[in-house]
Amino acid sequence: MTAPALFLDRDGTLAWPYHYPSRPEHLRLYPDLAPELTWFQARGWRLVVVTNQSGLARGYFDAAALERLHAHLRTMLAAAGVRLDAIYHCPHHPQGVVPGLARACDCRKPAPGLLLRAAGELGLDLAASWMIGDILDDVEAGHRAGCRAVLVDLGTEPRPTTALRWPDYVARDTRHALRLVRAVETGDPTVERDYLPAAWCPAGVPAQTTSRRCG
Ligand SMILES: [Mg+2]
Ligand SMILES: [Zn+2]
Repeated sequence: MTAPALFLDRDGTLAWPYHYPSRPEHLRLYPDLAPELTWFQARGWRLVVVTNQSGLARGYFDAAALERLHAHLRTMLAAAGVRLDAIYHCPHHPQGVVPGLARACDCRKPAPGLLLRAAGELGLDLAASWMIGDILDDVEAGHRAGCRAVLVDLGTEPRPTTALRWPDYVARDTRHALRLVRAVETGDPTVERDYLPAAWCPAGVPAQTTSRRCG
């Protein structure tokens, strides 16, 4: 028996973007996510954070600091009634400086290693699972793992040029992303599904003539 999962990126998706957060106070959760997350949790979905933490390979912080950060993340979410099932991180980067971590790997997103490891360890149904993240590397990792993927539009990503990087849906923010997945799962037609970043719309083509709305 396998369970569906929501794979959640951390920085920019659960928490406000921050340049290499290394201390608990650097991590500020977006508001109003807990009611959406608990909806999934109550229905047997696993909540799994998957995060690239190249700051470890770069020597910006160590594993103990990351543990403190993640304990804080768990505490903040638990206070709102959300229990994370797991947090998986990639500590690697090819241009790192820390021996053992300064290398290519199969777990740094857009590679799917973190999701595949979680699926094996937690018994997850990848085809029934979703990846939510704020960059196209998250989308690609989700697709490479066999999941559907929602991009949270922070205005940073160019129009994708490959199918692997094209999200199944784009959301205006993380709360919208969670409501969108829920709407797809339940067949609720009232949640906006056709949003696209304005920058992705073909130049010179009026938005109403494209198949999905822009901006
Ligand atoms: Mg991110
Ligand atoms: Zn890695």
